[in-house]
Amino acid sequence: MSDGEMHTGGCVCGAVRFRAIGKPKRVTVCHCTWCQRRTGSAFGVEAVFDEADIEIAGDTVGRYRHRSDESGRWLDIEFCTRCGSNLGFTLEAVPGIRTLPAGAFDEAGWLTARAQEFRHVFARSRRDWADLGAAAEVHERHFRG
Ligand SMILES: [Zn+2]
Ligand SMILES: [Zn+2]
Repeated sequence: MSDGEMHTGGCVCGAVRFRAIGKPKRVTVCHCTWCQRRTGSAFGVEAVFDEADIEIAGDTVGRYRHRSDESGRWLDIEFCTRCGSNLGFTLEAVPGIRTLPAGAFDEAGWLTARAQEFRHVFARSRRDWADLGAAAEVHERHFRG
């Protein structure tokens, strides 16, 4: 266990809170079709920790076991049964680690691509809107003003 640094986060409704000790081992930006479907977005962004460095508190943690079509191995997705927020997952392929969704931490400043090791995986199914660059309008808030 690393000492010092601790980061907290949780679901949208606040019923589930988590804390992680230390920095993630890496941050995986996963473009697989499974992550696109489970997040409803272009990719999942998962901060990967040792299970021992994470505590999750709350009585609305739900779990769904998915079996990979390709490998046949399981992934246990966790989510808040009250608000539906993604709470990361554990996977048979890599015992002893779990992920937390990078966007669910309270503070954004420490979890940056400069400070942490980020990796794109399953780029073969990357959506063309995963990185629009200058192709889209940018508004600091909403365009409705
Ligand atoms: Zn919730
Ligand atoms: Zn994925």
